[in-house]
Amino acid sequence: MVTLSSLMRPLASQLHRQLARHAGSHRITPRRGCNLTACSSKFVLSHVHPMWQGPLAVPGGDRQSPIDIVVRKSVFDSQLRPLVTDYDPETCQQIWNNGYSFLVEYDDTTDKSTLKGGPLQDKFRLCQFHFHWGESNAWGSEHTVDKRLFPAELHLVHWNSEKYSLFEEAVMEDNGLAVIGVFLKVGKRNEGLQKLVDALPAIRHKDSVIEFTKFDPACLLPVNTDDYWTYHGSLTTPPLTESVTWIVMKQHIEVSHDQLAVFRSLLFTSAEEEVQKSMVNNFRVQQPLRGRTVRSSFTPFLQEAPSAEANKHAH
Ligand SMILES: [Zn+2]
Repeated sequence: MVTLSSLMRPLASQLHRQLARHAGSHRITPRRGCNLTACSSKFVLSHVHPMWQGPLAVPGGDRQSPIDIVVRKSVFDSQLRPLVTDYDPETCQQIWNNGYSFLVEYDDTTDKSTLKGGPLQDKFRLCQFHFHWGESNAWGSEHTVDKRLFPAELHLVHWNSEKYSLFEEAVMEDNGLAVIGVFLKVGKRNEGLQKLVDALPAIRHKDSVIEFTKFDPACLLPVNTDDYWTYHGSLTTPPLTESVTWIVMKQHIEVSHDQLAVFRSLLFTSAEEEVQKSMVNNFRVQQPLRGRTVRSSFTPFLQEAPSAEANKHAH
């Protein structure tokens, strides 16, 4: 079992801030049932990573993530605006293998890389992004769309810098975080991602950190960021706080099989550990919706009305 103290010892003081930010990710957490056939039968996360082992220690709430997005039950909301991302690549600082994923971390002491618009009333600051992925291309994403699994999912994590002064404060509070989720599909090589992929072998082991600069996360967003689903949920790693406005992109991005293979070459384990474990299947099992509404910024009905569109352009 990974404990907080064992995690803290090998880390340099420069990591103190990041550690405080992510210390909760090693607490004992509940095991929850999975409502997806795919993950209930084949693989259960508790066998995969120590993070998901241990007794039920955290009370479960009614707004947990991830979820399956049922398209026909999502509700179109015409009030949902386009997302406005304003990222400064100069705020990119480092990549950290935290033993569960790799985090590309940004300087969030000022409002230089921000997200607003969409379902959000306030301005949110980018602090890090990371991915979740499977051991095969058949699964790996945390969210699903009509139970469709994707091989990986990107999470861009932002915190509300209008209401709170630190990530650590925002993470515990309502309306504290906004996370953009982007599905990854296997296809052509993603040129924007390649600089990051090239850096990953240097952080193969848990607790490795390297400097990583001038990376614009906007290159990982799909072309169309106007179409998304949004709902109120939680972090999918401990402390699992229900502080997240989720914004899940309808359009996926593509990565090559080789690029995903580099993700899978990372390790959950540190260099000192005898048995090395591949970093794969680092996603949480799905959670019940419990009466929540998933809103969509788009309506399939409007998109399927080309004649009305044509008329508009004719005038
Ligand atoms: Zn995540």
